[in-house]
Amino acid sequence: MSEDHRSEDHRSDDHRSDNHRSVVRRGLRPRSASAPVVSPISPSVVYASPDADTLDAQYEGRVEGWTYAREGHPNWAILADKLDWMEGAGGGVITASGMAAVGAVMKAVLRSGDHLVAGSQLYGRSLRMLRDELPRMGVEVTLADPTDGAAFAGALRQGTRLALVEVVSNPTLRIADMAAIGAACRARGVLLAVDNTFTTPVLYRPLDPGVGPPADFTIHSVTKMLAGHSDVTLGYAAARDPGQAARLTEVTVTWGLTPSPFDCWLAERGLHTFDLRFERSQANAAALADHLAGLAGVEAVLYPGRADHPDHARAAQLLGGRGGTMVSFRLAGGRAEVNRFLHAARHIPFAPTLGDVGTTLSHPASSSHRGLSE
Ligand SMILES: *Cc1c(COP(=O)(O)O)cnc(C)c1O
Repeated sequence: MSEDHRSEDHRSDDHRSDNHRSVVRRGLRPRSASAPVVSPISPSVVYASPDADTLDAQYEGRVEGWTYAREGHPNWAILADKLDWMEGAGGGVITASGMAAVGAVMKAVLRSGDHLVAGSQLYGRSLRMLRDELPRMGVEVTLADPTDGAAFAGALRQGTRLALVEVVSNPTLRIADMAAIGAACRARGVLLAVDNTFTTPVLYRPLDPGVGPPADFTIHSVTKMLAGHSDVTLGYAAARDPGQAARLTEVTVTWGLTPSPFDCWLAERGLHTFDLRFERSQANAAALADHLAGLAGVEAVLYPGRADHPDHARAAQLLGGRGGTMVSFRLAGGRAEVNRFLHAARHIPFAPTLGDVGTTLSHPASSSHRGLSE
C-alpha cells in the first residue's frame, strides 16, 4: 500500500525509533472517488461517536448513526430495507432466525392473560412454541382449521389478542381462507399475523389489502426461499402499524434476537436472484407435481396449482393462479417405502429445509413435524 494510503494514526507513529509497531484500529480506509457496487460487510460491534452530545442525539433519534450492533448495524438495515420494499412494509426487523421472527411478534403484542388463535397447520416448531412456550408465559392458545373460515372465526373470543396463520401450510399445502380470517379478526379487533415463508412476496403480500382486510404482521423465515442458498439462518418480521413496528424493533434488540452482519450480507446477495430462482423453482415444482401424479406408488400429490388440490379454487384466487415452489406427496407402503424412495433419489439431498437452489426432499414426520402427534 502506498504511503498515500496510510492513515493519519499510523503516519504520526512513523517517527518512533523502536522497531515494534503496534497496529492502530482506526484508519487505513483506502481513499476512493468511486463507491463499491456491492454492499460492504460491516462486522463492527461498536461504532465510535465523536462526543457525548452526538451520542445523545443518536439515541434520541435527532441524528442517524449506529451505536452497538445488537441495536442495529448497516447490513441489517440494508437487508430490512429491501425486504420492506418487497413486502410493502416499513420499519421491518431482521432476526437471527425465522423462529426469532415468530417469537418477536409474540413478544411484541402478547401479555399474560391473552388468548391466541392459530392455524392448526403450521410449521412444526411454531406449533411447539404455541404448545410448550406460550402457555408458560400465561398465554392461552387455541388451534383452529385455517381452511375453514367459519371455524377459525368461531375460535376468536373475548381476550383474543392475536391470530397466526400460514397462507400455504407446511407440509400439507392447504390454503387458508384469508378473506374470512382477515374479516373476522378485523371485526373482533384481533391482530392478525401471517407467516409468509411459503408464499413469499411474489405470491402473497399480507400487509396489502387483498381478497380481505390486510394483516397486521408479516413474518418470514429468510433462511428459505428469500436467502435461497441454505447457508444463512435469518428471519424477518414487519408490522403495518408504526407503533407495532417500533415494538418489534424494541423486542428484537432487548431480547437479543439480532442477526449477524455476515448473514445479512449473504441474504442480501440471495435476494438479487430471488425473482429468477422463484420462477424457475415454481416451474420445476409444477412439472414435478404432474410427473409424480402419474407414478404408481404415489398415493396423492398435493400441489396448489393442480386442479385436484382440495383448495384449488382458493389457491387460484389468492395466489394469482400460481402454484408456488413446494410439492408434497404421499407414498403408498409406509416408512419402508419412504426409506426406499430416499435411497433411490440419490442426487436429491434428504434434508429438512426448503427453498434451496437445488431440489431437496423432506419427510416432515421424521423432521420438521416430529414433535407432533400422528
Ligand atoms: C422454516 C420455517 C420457519 C422457521 O424458520 P427458521 O429460519 O428455520 O427459524 C417458520 N415458518 C415456516 C413456514 C418455515 O418454513
